Amino acid sequence: MAVTQERSAGLDVARIREDFPILSRTIGGKPLVYLDSTNTAQRPRQVIDAEREFYEQHNANAHRAIYFLGEEATDLYEGARAKTARFLGAPDPSTIVFTRGTTESVNLVAHAWGRKFLKEGDEILLTEMEHHSDIVPWQFAARDTGAVLRYLGLTDDGLLDLSNLEALLTERTKILCVTGMSNSLGTITPLPRLIEAAHAVGALVLVDGAQLVPHRGANVVELDCDFLAFSGHKMLGPTASGGLFAKRELLEAMDPFLGGGEMINEVFHDHSTFNEVPWKFEAGTMNVAQEVAFGAAIDYLEALGMDRVREHEEAITAYALERLSEVGARIFGPTDVAVHGGVVSFWYRDVHPHDLATILNEEGVAIRAGHHCNQLVMRRYGVPATARASFYVYNTVQEVDALVEALGKAESVFT
Ligand code: PLP
Repeated sequence: MAVTQERSAGLDVARIREDFPILSRTIGGKPLVYLDSTNTAQRPRQVIDAEREFYEQHNANAHRAIYFLGEEATDLYEGARAKTARFLGAPDPSTIVFTRGTTESVNLVAHAWGRKFLKEGDEILLTEMEHHSDIVPWQFAARDTGAVLRYLGLTDDGLLDLSNLEALLTERTKILCVTGMSNSLGTITPLPRLIEAAHAVGALVLVDGAQLVPHRGANVVELDCDFLAFSGHKMLGPTASGGLFAKRELLEAMDPFLGGGEMINEVFHDHSTFNEVPWKFEAGTMNVAQEVAFGAAIDYLEALGMDRVREHEEAITAYALERLSEVGARIFGPTDVAVHGGVVSFWYRDVHPHDLATILNEEGVAIRAGHHCNQLVMRRYGVPATARASFYVYNTVQEVDALVEALGKAESVFT
């Protein structure tokens, strides 16, 4: 345990917590223990201030006004795009399309790339670990194009089962869609190996970075992924912020997703021509203030350093896995923290996760219970739901202790 605490010293968590006003709340007279960042993270004052300041000082629509405020709003919005590109190691800002987050980004690709380039008999390779937002849009694309869905399965210990990778990844595969980090099992997937194998058969790769980007960071050039989807609200930013990285030649080849203002070049009675990328994919008024504040979230994470964020999470996760195992919880997902990000799914005794979450709530401990939009994972492991605790830059080992202590209370109520 001493090692755990020492290793987590990479971040000054006490100092960080001061930046998050919500963490000083009490729930029913008990300090809030927020263990649901995988669902949505809390926001530091710097992000809240950036959004407020935008409305107080700079509010105008981006790309639509030549007056002073309009130019300021445009500069701030495009500045956030440049920060996002830098954070992801993207070659240039035009490869970043702002969206409402991962769900919209995957839908964009499934629609704008899928409907144009998939045809009958083509295969889309998914994994059973995918969030519903990286399954359902592909089901729609398969239905509309005649393409076929295939799935990589899971091993008993929560890893991707790669034993039949070669059989599943063939010249018929046009795209592999894979999460970088599972939101229910915590599993960090072997992206470099998967991307290399997919490219070797000519398939593109879409990485669902909803969890990977906030918790481990990602460099799209090193990964050589074709698409990377991410959500601002899971990495300290506002809701409805985030976006999609895509290689520029793909964005240029794809048809637009939504039609409307600003995504056009010229509009005629019977057809239109389209704006350059990335604006071709940003129809209508965007979430300007939210993306600007998302830029502030990136500043915040960069100041902490993603290596330190990762180290901190590994330490807390190792501690949580150890403590939960000690008290006899059944853990879902890998036990090795090198491949287990900061989210731990478990069953405690035979208490249903919803009952557990209800009792924990009375102790001020906020965890998520449910299928986590991962019904294929739940089915694979034969449970309807799991209890899930997840960690971020502001969580402490003491909060893991509070979780374990609260589990003891749940046990006395239900067994
Ligand atoms: N993919 C993963 C792995 C997720 O964890 C989530 C959200 O929990 C999503 C996709 C969907 O993200 P959003 O709701 O921000 O679009």
